[in-house]
Amino acid sequence: MSCLDCRTALSAELDGEEPGHSPHAVRVHLHTCEHCGTWLSAARGLQRLVGELMGARYQDGENRMPDRIGQGARG
Ligand SMILES: [Zn+2]
Repeated sequence: MSCLDCRTALSAELDGEEPGHSPHAVRVHLHTCEHCGTWLSAARGLQRLVGELMGARYQDGENRMPDRIGQGARG
């Protein structure tokens, strides 16, 4: 597996899409390639940030937006 394959699979996984590669192969690559490990950390941080900004309003369950923020956004 190349770095490109690994990152493509991880990116798809983060987006909730089919990685298109064996998760095991991706993990093995991550253990052997610190560049992709660093990339994954950055990608996860970015995804969490985007999720907090965009996703909160769509999730009606456990990650509900705090009331005071919701009121601010509504007005
Ligand atoms: Zn790599």
